[in-house]
Amino acid sequence: MFTDSHCHLSFPELQAQLPQIREAMVKARVERALCICTTLEEFETVHALAMTYDNFWCSVGVHPDNEGVTEPNVDDLVHRAALPKVVAIGETGLDYYRLGERSVADMHWQRERFRTHIRAARHSAKPLVIHTRNASVDTLEILREEGESADSAGRAGGVFHCFTESAEVAQAALSLGFYISFSGILTFKNASDLREVARSVPLDRILIETDSPYLAPMPYRGKTNNPSYVPYVARQVADVKQLSIEEVAEATSRNFERLFTGVKA
Ligand SMILES: [Zn+2]
Ligand SMILES: [Zn+2]
Repeated sequence: MFTDSHCHLSFPELQAQLPQIREAMVKARVERALCICTTLEEFETVHALAMTYDNFWCSVGVHPDNEGVTEPNVDDLVHRAALPKVVAIGETGLDYYRLGERSVADMHWQRERFRTHIRAARHSAKPLVIHTRNASVDTLEILREEGESADSAGRAGGVFHCFTESAEVAQAALSLGFYISFSGILTFKNASDLREVARSVPLDRILIETDSPYLAPMPYRGKTNNPSYVPYVARQVADVKQLSIEEVAEATSRNFERLFTGVKA
């Protein structure tokens, strides 16, 4: 069975198709999905999905790209994280891709928001779902500053989701005790560097995800993504690591349970 560790089923284009998506998931043997929250405003909808369906769980967090939304404090996150079926804090992190006219120094608010999430994760003893784009140095540094190292007491840990960084960044994340999640990007023709990175990550630290509705894997690239496509990511991981797709399905599902301990409840 397959597990989609990161999707946005609360987004209207997927929510509208939910019965068909759930049917497609059954056919594709995708048995579980983690629904990721991107604003506090959205949380109720995401949480309702997790409460309605046995095989869905959810996170609470405010995405680094979201501006003009409610700024969370530690309590906002900790309170929601204590609700049933909330198993992670995020997605959070840093994204310097859309700086526009701004400098990295101007993104102080994003770094503060990230620190808030790390503190909430440690307080809740729930892992972090980390989004990092064009910002890996600061992402790793802030994690270290906030006490996230592999041997630190009370560490939250978590996953670097939709990983597109270098092998060096992957090794740094692994050495902090984090998991690495690969998306449909791994299947793209021009992603040979990323496939090399995937080869270097131990199987017991890999998760797979769709990040749907975005980033549909080949052969659906450019179409609306959904969790039933996550086996295409597993197939690609299997190819680069010369394993069977069953081994990858099994390992990534076990990794998911080990990281998001709440999914067993
Ligand atoms: Zn993301
Ligand atoms: Zn996402």
